[in-house]
Amino acid sequence: MTPVPDVPAARLSDPVAVRDMADRLNRPDFDRWAARTRATGGCAQPVHLRGHVEYRDKLTGVLLRRFSSGTEPGGTLRVACKTRRASRCPACAETYRADTYQLVRAGLSGGKGVPDTVAEHPAAFVTLTAPSFGPVHTRREKNGKAQPCRPRRDAGTCSHGRPVSCTARHTADDPRLGQPICPDCFDYRAAVLWNAHAPELWRRFTLAVRRQIAKAGGLRVGELRAHLTLSFAKVAEYQRRGLVHFHAVLRLDGPGGPIAPPPAWATYDLLADAVRHAATAVTARTPQSNDVPAHTLTWGEQLDIRPITATGTLTDRAVAGYIAKYATKAAESTGTVDRRIRATDDVNTLPVTDHARRLITACLDLAAVEELAGLRLDQWAHMLGFRGHFSTKSRRYSTTLGRLRADRCAHNEREHHATTGRLPFDDDGVLITTHWNYVGQGLTPGEALLTAALTGRPLPPLDSRHARSPVGRPGPDRR
Ligand SMILES: [Zn+2]
Ligand SMILES: [Zn+2]
Ligand SMILES: [Zn+2]
Repeated sequence: MTPVPDVPAARLSDPVAVRDMADRLNRPDFDRWAARTRATGGCAQPVHLRGHVEYRDKLTGVLLRRFSSGTEPGGTLRVACKTRRASRCPACAETYRADTYQLVRAGLSGGKGVPDTVAEHPAAFVTLTAPSFGPVHTRREKNGKAQPCRPRRDAGTCSHGRPVSCTARHTADDPRLGQPICPDCFDYRAAVLWNAHAPELWRRFTLAVRRQIAKAGGLRVGELRAHLTLSFAKVAEYQRRGLVHFHAVLRLDGPGGPIAPPPAWATYDLLADAVRHAATAVTARTPQSNDVPAHTLTWGEQLDIRPITATGTLTDRAVAGYIAKYATKAAESTGTVDRRIRATDDVNTLPVTDHARRLITACLDLAAVEELAGLRLDQWAHMLGFRGHFSTKSRRYSTTLGRLRADRCAHNEREHHATTGRLPFDDDGVLITTHWNYVGQGLTPGEALLTAALTGRPLPPLDSRHARSPVGRPGPDRR
């Protein structure tokens, strides 16, 4: 019998959750339920599947083994949701963060199939930002002391009658940070158009870096591939003002990727120059329409380029940690919602900051403009217009998340077989057929408490919409 787990005391004040927890604990299949909970890594919103998997001899068709969800608690198999968003599932987001760390780290110091010699290739940590769409409250520090936000002597007021100066020394958790000093002066439409075009700006940026490197090496762009590869891994991060910026590792490899060094002329300084040039040169133009003038979008002036070394001020370890941390965040940090805005939603009552509400409204307004329909701003309003991937890498950067996941699954399988005494089927002569149906997702309030207690993983917030009964319950084991 599994010992009764410790549950965080603060959560025991909810009588519904406590009754539900006692109910789960007292069921005869609790041990099986607990084992499966551990197998999902403490996922806060596991996917419930009903179905079976069959192993048959390829030649004779004889059934060798059958696993059915019918023997699982509730008649369903629970699998981890695998989200990267910490706001939805802290446990799966932590797995994603750790995998991203391994992936970025392998690309800087070797490992996971990448040779150690990759550490000698020139590599830069680059941050590309968005330009200003209006002054916002900011926190500046000098020698660890907060400086006045935006001091302007005798500056008066803007055309909306608001003071353009802010002399407050904002604390790090001041909710005003990132909010416009005058919302009516802030160009919301241009801001969301910029977010919508950020992936395109990034694409043009990488092309321009390659072009610049080729030029410096006396090559045509088409010839570059035979001499070197520009590999990268990047993450998008939302600034508090609701605009995306990118943190990226850019690395120079030989023609075949990380297995070979780049030519001697392809140095860190050459890479840094190419980045600087490309960041200032590329633009993206938005479509022209009767209602919205065309905007020419560029990167912001703030550009950070630093060398990554094994021992210097910016180590591979620090960079991998930094990128992995941002990989699990979405736009929620800017005060928006972490789900799509539905047609039935009243934007005025959404639980978001005023700034986020104006950004969301700008997306919905622009979505109605025919020429901008391709940006699908209504679908991505909750992301404030950005519809790109949060973390991406070039093909040759290092290993893949899929590969890391497969390795972990194989490891779990081996552990499973070690405990059950069954041999894994890794025989070519075995035919595996699977049939699964999605029947729901989530945990009941009591199950959420038990999951946190059994796995030591944090619980999502109490008011989370995940603390609900999953579809398909009550299951057959419920009396
Ligand atoms: Zn999960
Ligand atoms: Zn301020
Ligand atoms: Zn104003």
